[in-house]
Amino acid sequence: MPHTLLAFHAHPDDEALLTSGTMARAAAEGHRVVLVVATDGGEGLASAKYTAESLATRRMDELETSARALGVARVEYLGYADSGLGPRALPDPPRRTRFVRADTHEAAARLATILAEEAADVLLTYDPNGGYGHPDHIKAHEVGMRAAALAGTRRVLQATVPRDAICRAIDLAAKVYRFPPEFDRGSFDRAFSARRDITHRINVRRHITAKRASMRAHASQASSDGGADRTLAAFLRIPRPLFDLVFGTEWYVDATAEAHGSCTLDHDKRTLDHDKRTLDGEKRTLDHDKRTLDGEKRTLDGEECTLDGEECTLDQGGKAATRRSVRSRNPVGGIRRDVFEGLA
Ligand SMILES: [Zn+2]
Repeated sequence: MPHTLLAFHAHPDDEALLTSGTMARAAAEGHRVVLVVATDGGEGLASAKYTAESLATRRMDELETSARALGVARVEYLGYADSGLGPRALPDPPRRTRFVRADTHEAAARLATILAEEAADVLLTYDPNGGYGHPDHIKAHEVGMRAAALAGTRRVLQATVPRDAICRAIDLAAKVYRFPPEFDRGSFDRAFSARRDITHRINVRRHITAKRASMRAHASQASSDGGADRTLAAFLRIPRPLFDLVFGTEWYVDATAEAHGSCTLDHDKRTLDHDKRTLDGEKRTLDHDKRTLDGEKRTLDGEECTLDGEECTLDQGGKAATRRSVRSRNPVGGIRRDVFEGLA
């Protein structure tokens, strides 16, 4: 049965890195995909030749290009101004409010209207840290969660990355590729989620072409002086097999499952006991998973690595990879592999 997926992001380009594969996959499988951004990205780090206004126009065009590549049916902009990444938000531009200063309830009501119009089954948003801590991303989490509650959206998935996997992947990539100086490797040690908190692991390798097109749409500012777009461009230069390995999976934490769980615990002791048994079962699975993870080893030349249930051998300095499935070595009890799984 076709469902509707709504991806809510802070800025144009945020959809490319964490959720574009899931969006392309959902669209390719016949579901309706809607993309909503809170801001126009006018304060993104880019070449000094852009004013905030001309950059915003450019970035909204890029968003349209990215959306077309992903098969998105509808793109909406909530009308807020980009707050920028600085320690203090910039003053509001004429007739608009910086997203960090927006009234959360009002912003949530705007998003909830679209969720309701679309009868969206699944909302994609951010975790409480906003992934890596951009003030607009933290705000997007608050607005996304509130909107889902207002609209009664059944499933809310917070886009994330298992931080251990991404740190190792970046270190691996750093052996064959030199990241630009503004790339903050250290931020990844504190960002995103622990592997044990992840509920959804979505294989998007079949949609990697669309994902690359989405990233390329935003990396088109070749004159960029630095920042997010250059990081996207840097990722696109990673040798293809390694790129597919790292970006072929997207991860989420199911916020709705968490909320329902704690509600049940508060209300009924017998349910609590039942829950406890389930949790014990989950713990064993996690321990098993941990053993598999601890057993991993990966280097660039000729040695083996395991990433998300696949064993691969990287050679020629990471330019080639041979893979085989090792599902039996990496059981993933409790992990869902489809964002719509379990929805009627
Ligand atoms: Zn952003």
